[in-house]
Amino acid sequence: MKTLVAAALTASLWLSAPAAQAAPCLMVTVTGAQGGPQAYQGQAGPGTLISYGDDADNCSTVRLQFDAGRGTLLRWSQIKVLSSQVDAVFFTHMHNDHSEGLFELIQHRWLLFPKSPKLDVVCSDDAASPLGFTISCKKFVAHIADASIQSGEVAQRVSEDKSRPPEGPAVLANLRTFQPTNAPQLVWSSGDVRVSAIGSTHISGHASYRVDTPAGSVVIGGDAGNDTPAPPRPASTSAQVEMLAKGVDIIVHSAIHPVMGPEHGSGMPAPIYHRQSSASDLGAMAQRAGAKHLVLTHLIPAPGAPSQGLWKVPGGPLSAAAYQEAARAAGFAGNVLVATDLANLRLPTK
Ligand SMILES: [Zn+2]
Repeated sequence: MKTLVAAALTASLWLSAPAAQAAPCLMVTVTGAQGGPQAYQGQAGPGTLISYGDDADNCSTVRLQFDAGRGTLLRWSQIKVLSSQVDAVFFTHMHNDHSEGLFELIQHRWLLFPKSPKLDVVCSDDAASPLGFTISCKKFVAHIADASIQSGEVAQRVSEDKSRPPEGPAVLANLRTFQPTNAPQLVWSSGDVRVSAIGSTHISGHASYRVDTPAGSVVIGGDAGNDTPAPPRPASTSAQVEMLAKGVDIIVHSAIHPVMGPEHGSGMPAPIYHRQSSASDLGAMAQRAGAKHLVLTHLIPAPGAPSQGLWKVPGGPLSAAAYQEAARAAGFAGNVLVATDLANLRLPTK
């Protein structure tokens, strides 16, 4: 009997030990919390790094960057992520605050890790705006390092190290575009990680993403807002993001505080205010979607800031708690994380 129990114990230990070691995990790290192209107190431009793996590799088998604002490479360096170690960059839209960090990270990869695999860059197909111009992620990526080519730097660096592709850094991008629609579609996958996208309203070609893994799921809303550009409307949030977020664990979303609304006298033009999702409407949406965590980022205005660029914050600087309160007062019962650079969440929570 004793032997049997001992054998059973040994077997269960043998069975459970590797399983525990290999428990899947997910890390969500805000690489930049700045809202808009303004510069404030060294905050990096908007972006979120999602890393998936298991306990043994500290959740780092797959690394996906969603938007890459200014300073993304510096934030990676603080968490010891090299430019060669990221599998894909996804863009929500082609505003410079969300995209300009691609130059530094792809130039860095080309310069220091020229033999690393191509970086998948996932974004919308060319999108014609009704206003008469075309938003083109494809051209943005193709021309990402043109200034370095024109300055002669690319030729000079290649002369020093022939393993650097002579076409320049853009050749290290593997562009994967998709046509965003009102229904989620799979746009990227690797092993257990699946990324889907939905079209959402901000500027032409804006998309929001959802990452599903065995350790949990995350929605990246980007700057999505309601299809109806101004009140009257049910909410400032996006119906498409809400559909994408059904049952998700974490929602990461750009947020504007209601204090910047035109009725409070900030001076911010009403169309700019109305095209962002408010912190309170995001709280209500996260509750309806059943999310456990709401990460408010791309904060307009930044907590502590007396103004957002040219526009004063009515009543003086906001605290992070003011964002939490706005989301909670609207009915969100889960965890609200008001982002700063490198704020993070891990799933499963320890
Ligand atoms: Zn933005």
